[in-house]
Amino acid sequence: MKYCKRCLYPENHPLNLTFDDEGICSGCRVHEEKDELDWSERLEKLKLILDGYKRKSGSIHDCIIPVSGARDSYFIVHVVKNIFKMNPLLVNYNKHYNTKVGIRNLAYLRTLFGCDIVTQTVSPERIKRITRASLKKMGSMYWHCLAGSTVFPVQTAVKFKISLIIWGAHQGCDQVGMFSHLDEVEMTRKYRKEHDLMGCEADELVSDLDDITIEDMEPFIYPHDKEIEAIGVRGIYLSNYFRWDSKAQHESMINKFNYESMAQQRTFDTYNDVDCFHYSGIHDYIKYLKWGYGKVTDHASREIRLKRLTREEGINLVVKYNDVKPSDLQMFLDWIGIEEDEFWNSINRFRDPMIWSETDGNWKLSDSILNYRDDENIDGSRFNKVESCDFCLTSPKVSDEKDDSYTLLGRGWVD
Ligand SMILES: [Zn+2]
Repeated sequence: MKYCKRCLYPENHPLNLTFDDEGICSGCRVHEEKDELDWSERLEKLKLILDGYKRKSGSIHDCIIPVSGARDSYFIVHVVKNIFKMNPLLVNYNKHYNTKVGIRNLAYLRTLFGCDIVTQTVSPERIKRITRASLKKMGSMYWHCLAGSTVFPVQTAVKFKISLIIWGAHQGCDQVGMFSHLDEVEMTRKYRKEHDLMGCEADELVSDLDDITIEDMEPFIYPHDKEIEAIGVRGIYLSNYFRWDSKAQHESMINKFNYESMAQQRTFDTYNDVDCFHYSGIHDYIKYLKWGYGKVTDHASREIRLKRLTREEGINLVVKYNDVKPSDLQMFLDWIGIEEDEFWNSINRFRDPMIWSETDGNWKLSDSILNYRDDENIDGSRFNKVESCDFCLTSPKVSDEKDDSYTLLGRGWVD
């Protein structure tokens, strides 16, 4: 397997990575733009775009911001509402796997910023059926979260006739350099299907065998092109106009608004995905079982590019977290109602043969970044580390006792 000489990405990255003659990946190359572009000029560009949408919709809301109890939501709302003085409608897809910290972060987000919020909660019974089917069809326990959170804002834009959606980072640009920041890539149905949804649109999960009807899938279906054109819906990404630095952004939100962080089972980043039990848990464990690497590689690669980790420190973090089995796997299997054997049968079919080999039912990684620690030209490719990479743990905003009084409201389902 080929690995980047600067970050930790392998060539089997599912978002399609390319390597140049020096063995540096496209993600690292596009990342170099962060220190080359004139960001004040790009911010002016964003201002022009946003000015064009103020009150344009004829509704009281100028734009839509998809939010959760984590992942730069505070930062995006802060920029749009407090800096650019827009009046956003916040839109939240309830993933059902909400942590208390995530519920509190979201509750404080809607309170602190004084924004209206629309939340979609699909029935847990339907979510369980869809998740059993997506696990079987593509080895994903997270498809409904990805599909719901990428489409509910678009459905809401059409329904309320609000033509601008403002997203945070574009993964294809930020992780793998699929686009330059200068391309100013916008939201598309095609990218969502191919990358966010792993190639599987909502209607492809309809099946008599799994007892899923087209009506069941309605919350996950992208609006028709004609509806989108009629409203002129477009989705822009703030990461094309800001020098995106998720760690610094979260720390500024911790200081300004007491955003809460939380330790994660499978990565050192305590900021990004604190709202969800499974994003950096079982979902990420499955990513490792398929591709041989998980979120810790994403996060370490990001921090190497931002000059806060050396490649060697990143590799040590991968060693620490890569094969940690989430402690709540059984709880999740009980919730969707399948046996552990069935889970393994579904996942093993999707292991990438480029990196996994099987003997008598035992799976083994055939290669790893560990074998490329001392590769040629590593020193020639590296950036000098300029700051430390400490992710802090905040203390809870409220006592557990007080917390329980409103936890269920945000969680959306009961045992
Ligand atoms: Zn790289």
